Amino acid sequence: MNNFPKVHLHAKKDRAVRLFHPWIFSGAIQNVEGNPAEGDIVEIYSQENEYLATGHFHEGSIKVRIFSFSKTDCSENFWIEKFKKAYENRKRIGLVDNASTNVYRLIHAEGDGLPGLIIDIYDTVAVIQTHTIGMHNQKANFVNALKEIYGSKLEAIFDKSSETMSKQSAKTIENGFLFGHLEETIITENDIKFYVNWVEGQKTGFFIDQRENRKLLLNYSKNKKVLNTFSYSGAFSMYSLVGGATEVHSVDSSKRAVELAVRNAELNNHSSNHQFFKEDAFDFLKKSEELYDIVILDPPAFAKHLSSVDKAMIGYRNLNTDGIKRVAPGGLLFTFSCSQVIDKILFRKVVFQAAAQSRRNVRILYQLSQGPDHAISLYHPEGEYLKGLVLQID
Ligand code: SAH
Repeated sequence: MNNFPKVHLHAKKDRAVRLFHPWIFSGAIQNVEGNPAEGDIVEIYSQENEYLATGHFHEGSIKVRIFSFSKTDCSENFWIEKFKKAYENRKRIGLVDNASTNVYRLIHAEGDGLPGLIIDIYDTVAVIQTHTIGMHNQKANFVNALKEIYGSKLEAIFDKSSETMSKQSAKTIENGFLFGHLEETIITENDIKFYVNWVEGQKTGFFIDQRENRKLLLNYSKNKKVLNTFSYSGAFSMYSLVGGATEVHSVDSSKRAVELAVRNAELNNHSSNHQFFKEDAFDFLKKSEELYDIVILDPPAFAKHLSSVDKAMIGYRNLNTDGIKRVAPGGLLFTFSCSQVIDKILFRKVVFQAAAQSRRNVRILYQLSQGPDHAISLYHPEGEYLKGLVLQID
């Protein structure tokens, strides 16, 4: 057994960890034995010296991120077992060897008991994003575990962590292939094809978390005129077109995103009734006088920290106010927020404010979240970051 540094908690400050919450805040710590460096593995003990958990030590308000609630030596085998469990869970929900969908999230951080680690699978390629130096230190073990699970089906592993780490650690980390080399592929999601390029693209290459919500949109798209704002790869647009939309407009301010969406429309043979606008979505909504049967608002996170919640709320309110104006009577608004610090109650409040300004009758048809491969640990409600509402607007 390894001799990991020990972190002792204050009396009465161990309740959260006993209830499997994976974060230890600095205020809960009584003393630290040994001298752990940023990212080192440590063990958590109660004041009475009872073992509670094992995790990575970091500077900042969250001092330890827990990845095990039972004693472990953190050997290569420990990580393999963790990954196998995540893989089996994806298999049980039908995402592995699925002929219609070959893209899914294998590891969803706290949702899979691995805070600070995201791994997305694009058919034969795994893309890793670590958010902590502790997880980044383990990357050799991740390569082993992925090879063990996928065997010869695995073509490449790309580490894309430099953009998700803290500024300090990001300086020492470069994106690159940990195994094999493949930069782009064509994936299928619900039988619709998309180019995904993890080296050049946003996040790990594709927004996998919206899979179920896109499918819902498809069901409502027949003979509809659709506006998709913040369209990135044009994924919502493709689903609408496949679902029989008569006309789709996609808006994104990034040139690269628009180019990607154009290629995706060609790939799916749906270029003729699809128009792209490389424009600021706020400006587009303000300027436009058209009415659409369905409007989609899927902006990037407006708030990354608690300190920016107020400003973000104004952003969401203005966006939804302008979005609602573009919805034809009886039409639908698909509105989302992926800001983790804005919970679903706050989000609903802000959409309420926007709706009230419009003085139209608005009903909630669906309350949406992230897909099941982005599952939320019941003990870590903070993991629920994607919120969506489908509103019917008279
Ligand atoms: N709906 C997409 C994901 C959206 S991600 C999907 O299903 O895949 C957010 C997108 O918003 C990014 O593509 C980014 O380029 C774009 N974006 C950011 N700010 C913008 C702005 N002000 N106007 C238009 N697009 C913007």
